[in-house]
Amino acid sequence: MSLMTGEQYVESLRKLDTQVYIFGKKEVNWVDHPIIRPSINCVAITYDLALDPEHEELMTATSNLTGGKVNRFSHLHQSTDDLIKKVKMQRLLGRKTASCFQRCVGMDAFNAVFSATYDCDKAHGTDYHENFRKFLTYVQENDLTVDGAMTDPKGDRGKAQGKQADPDLFLRIVEKRPDGIIVRGAKAHQTGSINSHWHLIMPTQAIGEEDKQYAVSFACPSDALGLFMVYGRQSCDTRKLEPGADVDLGNKKFGGQEALVVFDNVFIPNECIFLCEEYEFAAVLVERFAGYHRQSYGGCKVGVGDVIIGAAALAADYNGAAKASHVKDKLIEMTHLNETLYSCGIACSCEGYCTEAGNYQIDLLLANVCKQNVTRFPYEIVRLAEDIAGGLMVTMPSELDFKSDLKVPTQSDLTLGEWCNKFFKGTPDVTTENRMRILRFLENICLGASAVGYRTESMHGAGSPQAQRIMIARQGDFAAKKQLAKDIAGIRD
Ligand code: SF4
Ligand code: FE
Repeated sequence: MSLMTGEQYVESLRKLDTQVYIFGKKEVNWVDHPIIRPSINCVAITYDLALDPEHEELMTATSNLTGGKVNRFSHLHQSTDDLIKKVKMQRLLGRKTASCFQRCVGMDAFNAVFSATYDCDKAHGTDYHENFRKFLTYVQENDLTVDGAMTDPKGDRGKAQGKQADPDLFLRIVEKRPDGIIVRGAKAHQTGSINSHWHLIMPTQAIGEEDKQYAVSFACPSDALGLFMVYGRQSCDTRKLEPGADVDLGNKKFGGQEALVVFDNVFIPNECIFLCEEYEFAAVLVERFAGYHRQSYGGCKVGVGDVIIGAAALAADYNGAAKASHVKDKLIEMTHLNETLYSCGIACSCEGYCTEAGNYQIDLLLANVCKQNVTRFPYEIVRLAEDIAGGLMVTMPSELDFKSDLKVPTQSDLTLGEWCNKFFKGTPDVTTENRMRILRFLENICLGASAVGYRTESMHGAGSPQAQRIMIARQGDFAAKKQLAKDIAGIRD
């Protein structure tokens, strides 16, 4: 099968019997739900751009498994050039959507599971790598979107998997059968899980022998029996339910998506299993997946940053403040921070290396430095954007007020809309509506629904800041650095 169009992708979702809950109810037509649809549009554009000759160089690749042309989101990186193109593709999509476009979690999981299963088979004589190659061939040939799922609910953070009061707080194997396994538990805040065709599950932490039932990796379809999802709400999400809402949404077409994915005794056949109790490979999977996703943020968040910088500059134009030297300086600072993130994403890609399995892995230290910066710089970028935008970003009347024909019974005999447009006019050559649009866009990304993707996800997505600091400590090689100092200072032990 060839690459799908965005529309074909949306139609393919309708054919699944995915169980989705939102606002306390089961939603049958979740594909057209106004709160969910923007996140589906984001994934759809990853399909459309792959068919656009202008972008196919970044958006597609030649599969090492099939020899065919595949969407880069289902590709195994074959070189450092592929790793660089991945980051550039993510920046492009961030620029087009100003949102989390979700499909990267699957791509990062493919690359991590591919090399980890190879290493596990070598150590244990298992067949997981072959299982995974067959699964990924199926994904590539059908141009599927797959949710790469790692994060368990984790319960009491002070206790290991098996010591939790409720054993389901980490996803685990509850039964081993000749034809497969039964799994139980959940994955929390899963990006793009509802609008994925399949899920690729990995453990969330290092696991000891006593908890080996938690060391499990597998694939299952979104509509597997016993699997259901609960949509994660976002700030201001019910604005999307307002009839005719447009300007007040800030970003009408695109948005991110997270959900709780519950596995209530789901059967996984043997051919879909990629790890089953080989507990020492849990940490390997975590380290590799997190490394790839920390690289990813040096692309996607930078693309969104590009749009924020543009919006802040437009807000300054519309406010008549563009010539102020401090405004120019703030835009320079935002650009400096944004390009620093991109530099880290590119650097960890350039320094990538070939794994024994044959795909390319990023440089782990630089990827962790990348993500550590992402936990900080986007916050400073939105602080500066809010500074430039001004308080009107959060005090403006609603779109309905601006559009209202209601006569206000005062001497002037103006409508409510005329009053609002009169007092919120900025520079004479810009309509009040356009000024509103750019301020609402900034509100959306700094404080509204898209703040999930740009702010909090920058903090916690791909691991919270402390997780990167642990990796930086491990990779930083302080012993070698001490020796450098000793050599120059003439210290002999
Ligand atoms: Fe992709 Fe970024 Fe969203 Fe992760 S946070 S899925 S890298 S867009
Ligand atoms: Fe993410």
